[in-house]
Amino acid sequence: DNPIARKPEWIRVKAPTHPVYHETRQLMRDNRLVTVCEEAACPNIGECWSQRHATMMIMGEICTRACSFCNVTTGLPHALDADEPARVAEAVAKLGLRHVVITSVDRDDLADGGARHFAQVIGAIRAASPETTIEILTPDFLRKDKALEVVVKAKPDVFNHNLETVPRLYPTIRPGARYYQSLRLLDRVKEMDPAIFTKSGLMLGLGEEKMELAQVMDDLRIADVDFITMGQYLQPTVKHAAVDRFVTPLEFEDYGKMARVKGFLQVSASPLTRSSYHADSDFAELRAA
Ligand code: SF4
Ligand code: SF4
Repeated sequence: DNPIARKPEWIRVKAPTHPVYHETRQLMRDNRLVTVCEEAACPNIGECWSQRHATMMIMGEICTRACSFCNVTTGLPHALDADEPARVAEAVAKLGLRHVVITSVDRDDLADGGARHFAQVIGAIRAASPETTIEILTPDFLRKDKALEVVVKAKPDVFNHNLETVPRLYPTIRPGARYYQSLRLLDRVKEMDPAIFTKSGLMLGLGEEKMELAQVMDDLRIADVDFITMGQYLQPTVKHAAVDRFVTPLEFEDYGKMARVKGFLQVSASPLTRSSYHADSDFAELRAA
C-alpha cells in the first residue's frame, strides 16, 4: 500500500453546499447517470455542480483497464444500456448546458470498443440540444479497427483523449495503454476531420521531468492537437500510485507559458485543472475570439 501524502494548502477544496449542487446531483440520480465527477472523486465537484457542470461517464461504471491513478472499478462491465443515449440527452437538455463533456470507461470487451454507443450519445444530444457544443473524452480504442472513424463521423466539436503522463511512466501508470497509440489517435482525428478541435491532458506530480513534459507537448503539437490541460495528480486510495510530489502553482504557470509558446490554442494548467474543468467557458471564449 502507498500512504496518502498530506495535501498542500493550495489543493484544499470547499465542501459542496450550494443548492444547485444538490439539484445537479438529483438530476443525475433521476436519470440513472454515472458521472466521472463522483467516480474519480474530483476535487472540483462543489464548484462544477453548483454551475450544473457535470461530466457524464457512459457505458457503465466498471472499466476493463486498471490504470494505477484511476478510482474507477476494474472488472467485466455490464452489457450496454440502449436507453442511455436518450437519458444523457435528456439530462443535458434539463441542465441547459451550452457545452457538455461526455466521457466513458474503457470497453475492451466490446468489438467496437463502444464507438457506436459514443456516436449514438452524440446524435441524441445534437437532436435534443442543437445549440450545445459537445466535447468527448474517449478511450484509446486500442486494437479496435474502424472504431475511431465511427466516433469522428458523429462530429463532436471537441475530441479529447488524455495522454495522462510521459511515455517513460506508461508501464506503471497506464499499463494497458501505448503512448504512440494514444498520440496517433489524436493525429488521426485531425486527419479525418480538421474541423474538430483536438485536446489532451496530463497529470503532473507522478515523477515526470520538465524535459519529458516539453517533449510530450512537442509530440502533441506535431499531431496538431489544439488544447492542452495539466493538473496535479491526486492519489485516490492507498491502492493507487503515490504522488511523487506536489507541483507548485508557480510551476504550473510556467508549464502553461511553455504550452502557449509551443502554439496550443487553449491552455489550462493549475493544480486543480482536470480535462473537463472550465471546459465550457474556455470553449466559449475561443469561439468568441
Ligand atoms: Fe466533474 Fe470535471 Fe468538474 Fe471534476 S472538473 S467536477 S470531473 S466537471
Ligand atoms: Fe480509469 Fe479510464 Fe484507465 Fe479505465 S481506462 S481505469 S476509466 S483512466
